[in-house]
Amino acid sequence: MQTDKDLIGKKVFETPFIDTHEHLMDESERLACMEPFIPCDDWALLLNHYFSFDLISAGITKEQLDSLFSRQADPVKKWGILKDYWPSLKNTASGMVFRNTIRILYGIDELSEDNIAELQTRYEQTRKKGFYHFIIRDIANIRYCHVHSPVVACKNSETPDLLRHDLALNGLIQVAVKPYSVPENAVINSLSDWHLLIDGWFSEYNQIAAGVKVGNAYFRRLDFEWIEAGEVEEIFIRKINSQFINPMEEKKLQDHLFWYCVDKATKYGLPVKIHTGQWAMNNVMNMHWVRENPADCASLCRKSPGTKFVFFHLGYPHYEEMLSLAKSYSNAYIDMCWSWSLNPLAAKDFLKKFILTVPNHKIFAFGGDEKVAENLIGHTFVARQGIAQALTELVTEDWITIGDAMDLTEKLMYKNAAEIFKPER
Ligand SMILES: [Zn+2]
Repeated sequence: MQTDKDLIGKKVFETPFIDTHEHLMDESERLACMEPFIPCDDWALLLNHYFSFDLISAGITKEQLDSLFSRQADPVKKWGILKDYWPSLKNTASGMVFRNTIRILYGIDELSEDNIAELQTRYEQTRKKGFYHFIIRDIANIRYCHVHSPVVACKNSETPDLLRHDLALNGLIQVAVKPYSVPENAVINSLSDWHLLIDGWFSEYNQIAAGVKVGNAYFRRLDFEWIEAGEVEEIFIRKINSQFINPMEEKKLQDHLFWYCVDKATKYGLPVKIHTGQWAMNNVMNMHWVRENPADCASLCRKSPGTKFVFFHLGYPHYEEMLSLAKSYSNAYIDMCWSWSLNPLAAKDFLKKFILTVPNHKIFAFGGDEKVAENLIGHTFVARQGIAQALTELVTEDWITIGDAMDLTEKLMYKNAAEIFKPER
């Protein structure tokens, strides 16, 4: 007889995700090894994102890291660099993602010196035209992904049925990053020119974008205040002329532009996705700022009740506060992206508590936050394992029924996302 665990596991592994956050480039850009986003084109590329941050945390030297991701180095010899760190990292969630990817995609169960050559051969055989569809749809069982492009603020995807771009606002808020958000031919002489630039991005891409993305929490607190244009016009002029502006002035300018963009997004019906919590890169995280994220997010919700705010990454490690936030504010939504490879037990704990605490249509259970498509295979596996465990535990601990668990599976994995973000086209 099938147990509740079996039934829920089967349901979760058969149900597709709408994946609400990735950093994938288009397949042709990946195949062309677009620099600097794709540093090498061998099996080590699969370690180039979250696993590499864990390598740095483990103490890898800069020289070793550069060699691991070098285009010139012999792919088989790269094991000589990894092998000293592998025992410490194979059980971190990012190691788990990698191991499940190579197991499912390449049939390699246990990484060792003996199978690196085979791993490289399998990598090359798989990485070819059409592999995005094969990996994302056929293996990872994802309907489509929302994408925050690493290449440009927003674009028309080569495969709009598979990759749907968000409009990324970081550069527009920080008045930076040419040509990421400022086209080479754009002439900017005043704050109104900058407003027109923002208007242009929105009018061109509001039909395509699933939402807008704000990643500025990597550089500041999320305490965005309303500031009138007149108050920052002169600061803006100094900024574009590379003249000195002090941190208070920088904050004011960003505050103004944040709300200018958020008001646009709200007008176009685009949810505003915001990075909260843990920083991916090492040795710079300001944990004082991170600690303030939940309270700062509550202020944003209060300031703009008509905006749908989608908060990323559980505000990790402050996820109890994020439950409180989502419970209190009707315009606060939670996107669990990255959380399954950040701390899968915290993610499982969060999901269980969310279901018993917050209206359950306000959560999206998966985004890989990955830049290498292959990793979606291992990452969705780990996430499905966590989601199945969370639901099974809720049933066996008598909090919900097996019928509830079955219904919730679909809501968490795709129905909620399909309802909140602009309709699929
Ligand atoms: Zn991201």
